[in-house]
Amino acid sequence: MMTLNFSTLPGDGIGPEVMGTALEILRQVGESHDFVIETSSHDVGGAGIDNHGDALPVSTLEACREADAILFGSVGGPKWENLPPKEQPERAALLPLRKEFSLYANLRPGNLFPELSDLSPLRHETVANGIDVLCVRELTGGVYFGQPKETRDLESGEQEAIDTMIYRSSEIERITDIAITAARLRSGRICSVDKANVLETSVLWRKVVSEKVAREAPELELSHMYVDNAAMQLVRDPCQFDLILTENMFGDILSDELAVICGSLGMLASASLGVRKNGHGHPFGLYEPAGGTAPDIAGKNLANPCAQVLSAALMLRYSFGLEEAAARIENAVERSIRDGLRTIDVAQGAPSVGTREMGQAILERLD
Ligand code: NAD
Repeated sequence: MMTLNFSTLPGDGIGPEVMGTALEILRQVGESHDFVIETSSHDVGGAGIDNHGDALPVSTLEACREADAILFGSVGGPKWENLPPKEQPERAALLPLRKEFSLYANLRPGNLFPELSDLSPLRHETVANGIDVLCVRELTGGVYFGQPKETRDLESGEQEAIDTMIYRSSEIERITDIAITAARLRSGRICSVDKANVLETSVLWRKVVSEKVAREAPELELSHMYVDNAAMQLVRDPCQFDLILTENMFGDILSDELAVICGSLGMLASASLGVRKNGHGHPFGLYEPAGGTAPDIAGKNLANPCAQVLSAALMLRYSFGLEEAAARIENAVERSIRDGLRTIDVAQGAPSVGTREMGQAILERLD
């Protein structure tokens, strides 16, 4: 029997509600997949500030260091909005966690079930069969972090600002590695997105990705696309993509574009993977819903638990290598939607169910 040791950080707003559902589902799926979960819950975000004076309390960080993965809810809310920017829950909790665990790979699945295709802002015929695209974004390099990065005063009295876009081949290799692993679990197609007609970093990106895939995964189908075209193609025909591999800034923009064309934040999960291998030989990872704490519906049994549940499935897949158990959870979510169960965010005026009822429906469809 395998033991999964991960830290649970429910956070604020709807976090604790949807986390409860995800843990229940993990426990049940473990019974038929030979694993047990060993987890403890810790304050983070606003709860950390209120109870420990810190959005990422030392006790929480220590618990994460001893775990093989982090299952994260979401943080923040009106109560903490007036704090100085550096103390804001999202910035003061998530950024240090990314840094501490060198989370360099961000995986954002864009999933839209055909039954929910009306939620997409795209034309019905474009998304009638649903969307299933995975965006793999490099998260710690590129123009957001490159030095020098400053605003300076010129003698002329003008100011100038500089950001530096910089990538090393080793950074490109390791994110390509993650994309290869993910593509092998999917249809085997990777579309690498860059701006190699203008940017030196993109020329290197294209070269390193091409060589690595040719050398280590020749069975995969690799294509390249310029980022301006990719942004257009995503709205024109998202289904042409299976896995998009891209650098930090392009991924920031394209993954949000993908999220919006999928229609509901309550359905979208995400994973951030790090360098460190965990006790099972898989990457340490932080798994969280794409949406925030939804303060407007918190504590009312209205939140859609699917994003948190699907984040738990990603954790099984990438940090514990439990592909079948992950797929089982994803199928149970899909079957619940197919059977007509809808939380208020995806109901479009039709009768809806609460967080607990949706969780129960998923549990019943695990077998
Ligand atoms: P939000 O994602 O919390 O909410 C936007 C809209 O989507 C709301 O109408 C909300 O009700 C709905 N929504 C989101 N998730 C849902 C779910 N699971 N089920 C049903 N409806 C859902 O974004 P916001 O309102 O801009 O931010 C609210 C708070 O969350 C802010 O404090 C913000 O800083 C924080 N936030 C945190 C994270 C994070 O922890 N990673 C991410 C985004 C926002």
